[in-house]
Amino acid sequence: MCCHQISEEDLQNRERMPLYMDLIQGMQFFDPHVHMTSRTTDDYQAMADAGVVALIEPAFWLGQPRTGIDTFRDYYSSLIGWERFRSSQFGIKHYCTIGLNSREANNEALAEQVMEILPLFIYKEGVVGVGEIGFDDQTAAEEKYYRLQLELAKEAGLPVQIHTPHRDKKRGTTRSMDIALEHGLDPAMVIVDHNNEETVKEVLDRGFWAAFTIYPFTKMGNERMVELVRQYGPERIMVNSAADWGISDPLAVPKTAALMVQRGIAKEDIHKVVYQNALDAFAQSGQIDVADFTTVKAIDQSQRFEGNTVLRGGQAPRVDKDSVFIR
Ligand SMILES: [Zn+2]
Repeated sequence: MCCHQISEEDLQNRERMPLYMDLIQGMQFFDPHVHMTSRTTDDYQAMADAGVVALIEPAFWLGQPRTGIDTFRDYYSSLIGWERFRSSQFGIKHYCTIGLNSREANNEALAEQVMEILPLFIYKEGVVGVGEIGFDDQTAAEEKYYRLQLELAKEAGLPVQIHTPHRDKKRGTTRSMDIALEHGLDPAMVIVDHNNEETVKEVLDRGFWAAFTIYPFTKMGNERMVELVRQYGPERIMVNSAADWGISDPLAVPKTAALMVQRGIAKEDIHKVVYQNALDAFAQSGQIDVADFTTVKAIDQSQRFEGNTVLRGGQAPRVDKDSVFIR
């Protein structure tokens, strides 16, 4: 028998495969936390095909500690430069938040230098917040730079994107909010990220935005997310992928929307948690114009950014000015 023969079991498996793209036809998504620097062009393509029209890339830890200020400078520059350009080549509007991540706040000598250059970046076009900042190990140094950056955000009138710790999450989340209030921040300007069932109620009760990261295999799977929206409703809740260099799924937002459709969550509620709430929260920066979500679709991959393109030798550019989805 030929090895390409499809078995009965294969056929059944194929029928059970979630046709998530069918469930979300025509829907639009805004992923407010995804580290595209760590992802490939395949990811951009797949996100665009699934209906992701805009995203926010928070500044974060790259997996290996930086040893000098220049690598921070270049990284921030790439978030507002090259990565934004790369995203545009797939028809997705790219925004970012700029900040010193909690992990690297523990290198105080370097953190001091980072604080000095942050004001050069947070006022740039397309920077929709200060982030992701907050606690990792909940050290004194982390607290110090978290507080300094809250002041920076307040002064700039920018939203804050808070990374809550994965260890001792409940206490770290409460403490993050306490400190934000202590500095006089309006909870409506603060997006508390990486929530779970233990933290969500307090975050919503205190008037903050509650963001949820859908992680494959661990923590918040999208089954649990559907239950949370069923329990708490769609107000001030948003879903993100936080996809990065680790095991993660850049399609987490559209896939979660599909599961919500399948589980009978109302379309208007889904729209809020996968698009509108993130837009409303970060548009407070004054840096988001939804008209750009459409104009960025006028893709011309022959464009260049400082002489560089997303194309490799011999590839034909995709010039697809009129279509909403890249085919
Ligand atoms: Zn992140």
